[in-house]
Amino acid sequence: MAQPLDDIRAETTDCRLCALSETRTNVVFGVGNPHAEVMFIGEAPGKNEDLGAEPFIGAAGQYLNSLLALAGLKREEIYIANVLKCRPPENRDPRPEEIEACTPYLRAQVRSIAPEILVTLGNFATRFILKTDRGITGLRGQVHITGRFSVLPIFHPAAAIYDRSKEPVMENDFRLLGRLIAQRRRERAERGAQGA
Ligand code: SF4
Repeated sequence: MAQPLDDIRAETTDCRLCALSETRTNVVFGVGNPHAEVMFIGEAPGKNEDLGAEPFIGAAGQYLNSLLALAGLKREEIYIANVLKCRPPENRDPRPEEIEACTPYLRAQVRSIAPEILVTLGNFATRFILKTDRGITGLRGQVHITGRFSVLPIFHPAAAIYDRSKEPVMENDFRLLGRLIAQRRRERAERGAQGA
């Protein structure tokens, strides 16, 4: 049986499993609907998230909120977590040993929430979920099936803020997410009708 989210959160509260515990301000566990149909997975907390103890609350978070509307989603409907729960100093890339130490929490979160769709934001989340070395540029814009999940890799919103030429691609990918959600809901309704 899946662990309740609050129990997983309690395990992370004073986590010292990697060196990021020495430089973080707060553990950024994740936020949102504990029964979300769509779970977003980012990379790691940034400065604002480290201070506010919540993922995606800086500029990238505001941009993400505006994109969600294109998929017909509200922020309170989804769940958002990161691969790493603590901020890497100067926002450097996560290190392999940090990912190894921290991702059991993410796996437990995914099991607990049991979403149908995982949206992986950027290289690190996509590589972890799809177990691939391929980069986000070649993987985004397509739905991948892994286990019982539909996985949609999308550029990290921070990358699109840095490089505005990515904005149309981001918007298309969030519209694709909206169509994927509608398709999964239709399939669920059909299964329900057949079982009735
Ligand atoms: S990044 Fe993860 S493993 Fe490392 S200290 Fe934070 S919660 Fe623990």
